[in-house]
Amino acid sequence: MTGSNAVRIAVLPGDGIGTEVTEATLAVLEPLAKRHGIGLATEVLPAGAFHYQATGDAFPEASFRAAEAADAILLGAMGWPGIRYADGTEIAPQLDLRFRLNLYAGVRPVRAIPGVPVALADPRARDIDLVILRESTEGLFFSRGRGLVTEEMAEETLRITRAVTEKLARFAFRMAERRARQRGRRGCVTLVDKANVFRAFAFMRSVFDGVAREFPGVAAAHHYVDAMALDLVRKPWAFDVLPTENMFGDILSDLGAGLVGGMGFSPSADIGDRHALFQPAHGTAPDIAGRGIANPTATLLSAAMMLDWLAARGAGQGFADAAGELEAAVDAAFAGGLRTADIGGRDGTAAVARAVAAKFGAS
Ligand code: ATP
Ligand code: MG
Repeated sequence: MTGSNAVRIAVLPGDGIGTEVTEATLAVLEPLAKRHGIGLATEVLPAGAFHYQATGDAFPEASFRAAEAADAILLGAMGWPGIRYADGTEIAPQLDLRFRLNLYAGVRPVRAIPGVPVALADPRARDIDLVILRESTEGLFFSRGRGLVTEEMAEETLRITRAVTEKLARFAFRMAERRARQRGRRGCVTLVDKANVFRAFAFMRSVFDGVAREFPGVAAAHHYVDAMALDLVRKPWAFDVLPTENMFGDILSDLGAGLVGGMGFSPSADIGDRHALFQPAHGTAPDIAGRGIANPTATLLSAAMMLDWLAARGAGQGFADAAGELEAAVDAAFAGGLRTADIGGRDGTAAVARAVAAKFGAS
């Protein structure tokens, strides 16, 4: 997959099913790129728990540099039970990537895929199509690893800054505008907070309201996080774009994944001003790794988000078309009866890749 003016994709397969779902995704991207005449130069880079076990380095500086220099990063998953740093902490170098590349916006779409069982019996659940926007650099994760711990107490910091909140809010409103254009309806951005109890969230709300005034064409609302947990189960079809604090977003996006078929169907992106990382929301799934049954759909949908992001960054209409066709092909494959093991079926990782590629005429 190389070309003279190719867009460069750094691929970090990682560990466990991370390697399996990225391999399946690359197998779909290749014919898709060819079909749309887009140049994708992929470079597979070593990192992860097994790389640490073999070399003592979980994320070689050369891999980091290559990822930093690429136009976009596609990641599988990293980490493995039993492989830990010398100090006993978990190997999760993808989190460092988030901080080092300042990827402040965690994009977690929650969308019902035709044919994939949803968790709610209400027929409107088939219309679930929302995005949780998780702030990924501050909030309750600000003191991650630096909290104060004594014999008698432990303390972590909740930090909300104006600069990051403004960026996240603008990102949310622009995304709502883009989605509204694609879907032919008015967009709505709902900030999820706890402004009734924490001054930090009252501050977040006031900064959000300031940005909302720049986007009169998009509806703006607020929701307390506890009420949102309830409403995401009661009427998830009523929501559009949901920006929120780091920890709230972490929790609500797993709830969202549970609504629409589970982790195997949940893509994600971590986006900054200059860099962007695309990966499935799930981990390395040691229980099913190596058996060829991992569901690559989340990674395929993440790759579609990547092509769409590249298009929005000026890579060209071919990228937008390819993104749309990839998502439509996933939908068509499942609507046509594809059933992965995580939803009680028998179709394995490679079968999903074949079925999706077949929908756009590759074999
Ligand atoms: P992490 O710590 O990285 O978040 P985790 O311990 O939460 O990982 P995951 O790997 O995300 O665990 O997944 C939990 C379980 O869900 C897995 O053990 C596996 O059974 C199932 N699962 C996750 N992803 C997939 C997938 N793509 N296909 C099939 N099953 C999956
Ligand atoms: Mg998890």
